[in-house]
Amino acid sequence: MRGPNRPPTHGTDPRPASGDPLRDPWVPAVRRALAEALAAPATGDVPVGAVVLGPGGPGGPVLATGRNEREAHGDPTAHAEVLALRRAADRLNGWRLTGCTLVVTLEPCAMCAGAAALARVERVVYGAADPKAGAAGSVWDLLRDRRANHRPEVIPGVLAGECGEPLSRFFRSGRSGPGPAPGPAEAGGNGDGI
Ligand SMILES: [Zn+2]
Repeated sequence: MRGPNRPPTHGTDPRPASGDPLRDPWVPAVRRALAEALAAPATGDVPVGAVVLGPGGPGGPVLATGRNEREAHGDPTAHAEVLALRRAADRLNGWRLTGCTLVVTLEPCAMCAGAAALARVERVVYGAADPKAGAAGSVWDLLRDRRANHRPEVIPGVLAGECGEPLSRFFRSGRSGPGPAPGPAEAGGNGDGI
């Protein structure tokens, strides 16, 4: 797997994302998700944000947004992606999000990757990888499992550094809510391995 938003291991090009035809078109949508993420810590929640775009690729309309609200509502399923998918389905009056794109600042966990596949989204775009619990390539790869009957396209690592920054800040500040100890101070992880 390529990791274009990580520090370059060769070459001298310092530009973080420019010139990447796969990822660059999704930068505005990831920034929108990032704005959601930045609102999450007010509730003690890990800063993860998500957006669902309607059909049309990167230019598709924003159907719904979500941010992690697990602590805010005491709901183990209230991850940003699940909330955004539910709201998008409300907007479309149906559970099938055919042609839609789920955009999220952190690699989806197993629950959220499963929800995205069940919603039949066309594509999942994410920022920072989650080496502890990511289910879109890091720990598991549920979205591209050949046994699955619906396999969304996956575009990883869009603005990975920027998306990881609020997570690092959050865990450094010790502002995680009640429950298991937070994860390492590096970017990634929902703090409890799920
Ligand atoms: Zn999740």
